[in-house]
Amino acid sequence: MTSLELVLKALDAANIGRLRTTIEKICEQSDVALDLFCNELLVTQSDLDKHNKDSNGSENSINVTSSKRKREEYVGVRYATCEQCDEEFDATENGEESCQWHGGDLVIDEEHDIWFEWEPYQGERNTDENRKDCPEAFIWTCCERRGDGAPCETGKHVAKDIPKRVSPHVPSTSPRNVRRCLPLESNSLITTYLEPRADLR
Ligand SMILES: [Zn+2]
Ligand SMILES: [Zn+2]
Repeated sequence: MTSLELVLKALDAANIGRLRTTIEKICEQSDVALDLFCNELLVTQSDLDKHNKDSNGSENSINVTSSKRKREEYVGVRYATCEQCDEEFDATENGEESCQWHGGDLVIDEEHDIWFEWEPYQGERNTDENRKDCPEAFIWTCCERRGDGAPCETGKHVAKDIPKRVSPHVPSTSPRNVRRCLPLESNSLITTYLEPRADLR
C-alpha cells in the first residue's frame, strides 16, 4: 500500500474530532496547508456576490477554487448547517429559493387513526422517533399540513451558530484571533474558526 492509500484508510477510520484536531495541527504548522484549507472552506465577499449576479441572469457556475485569494479577503465560512432545514449548505450557492422549511412546531394529531390502535407496550406517542416513523400522525402548527407535507416556507439558508471555541493558549477576546480577518457582519462565523498559528502567538 502506498502512503496515500494508507492515509485515505486512516481518514475513513478516524472520527470527526480526530480529523478536526489533525487539520488544526496541520494549519498551525504549514502556511501552504492553511492557504489550501482557506480556499476550500472559506468565502470572500466576491464569492458571495457572484451568486447574486448569476441568479440575475448569467449561467456562469461558481468556481471559487480557481483564483488565488489573500487570507485577508475571506469574510466567512463556505459550508454550514442551516438552522431552518438542518441541511448542510454552500454559502456560494445560497439563493432566495435554496431552502424550504416549516417555521412552526410538529405537534401530535390526537385524532389520527394510528393513535386509536396504539398499544401501551408501544410506549410514549409524542416522541421524535414517532415524528420520523409516522409523520402523517403529526401536524405542523405553521401551515396545518401533515408531518410529511411539503415545507411551507422558502428562502435562503441561515447558518446555525457555531459553538465558540475555547483555546487553551489564547483568551477568546484576544485581538490576535481576528488579525487576519476583515470586519465581519454579526452573523458571520469566521472569527470563531480562525485561531492564531503558533508563530503568531
Ligand atoms: Zn409549515
Ligand atoms: Zn436551509
